[in-house]
Amino acid sequence: MFFQMSESPYELILFDVDHTLLDFDASEAYALKLCWQQYFCEAVDLETYTVVFKSINLSIWHEVENGKLKPNRVSEERARRCLRHFGFSGGKASGLGELFAEGLASVAQWLPDVESIFRSVARDFKVGLVTNGLVRVQRPRVAALQIENSLVTYQISEEAGVLKPNARIFQNAMEEAGSSPEQTLMVGDSVSADFQGAINAGIDFCWIRPDSATLPLGFPKPKFAAESVGELRSLLDMGG
Ligand SMILES: [Mg+2]
Repeated sequence: MFFQMSESPYELILFDVDHTLLDFDASEAYALKLCWQQYFCEAVDLETYTVVFKSINLSIWHEVENGKLKPNRVSEERARRCLRHFGFSGGKASGLGELFAEGLASVAQWLPDVESIFRSVARDFKVGLVTNGLVRVQRPRVAALQIENSLVTYQISEEAGVLKPNARIFQNAMEEAGSSPEQTLMVGDSVSADFQGAINAGIDFCWIRPDSATLPLGFPKPKFAAESVGELRSLLDMGG
């Protein structure tokens, strides 16, 4: 049973997953080490491999944002470029891509102070997740947290066929939850995916601000801003 805080206009709280609820860096570090051990350890040290991976990853996602590469090509293309960078043939790219996804999928670590607040919010509001990611990575991670029973919706971009900030993925979530945009709050760390998406879908936004980052020019002030989801409960209790 849900009861709505009389002060709060919201009944549905949508959360981004990585860097908002979960420590993505921990999952990525584990996945990188796994790949390095199986593919690269004789050619290069882990630190160098990590730096090269991150630079290739960054340029790949720029290409996705600019429409030059389809999101479903990221995993294999990134693996191919890493292999080529270190002088290997690209033939093992699909195996390496799979191993990286497996590594990511096997680590699900809450950010500090987030779990208890998430569970407390889930007792009083409908909660859902909206994430840009792969089904085979994001489903097992959320399953490991044992929060699936509290979720009224779980939108993964690969399944939805659209990425945040496309309004469609937020609309899917609200439809499944049976809530209107006025009754919904999006909580996330990314300005380009989460905040822009909330604006596109006409819903309020709580910005989980990474390291006191400032908003790019042209963005309005979000409804709420916090260093961590750990502060969300008190923000909601104070009213929207
Ligand atoms: Mg995020």
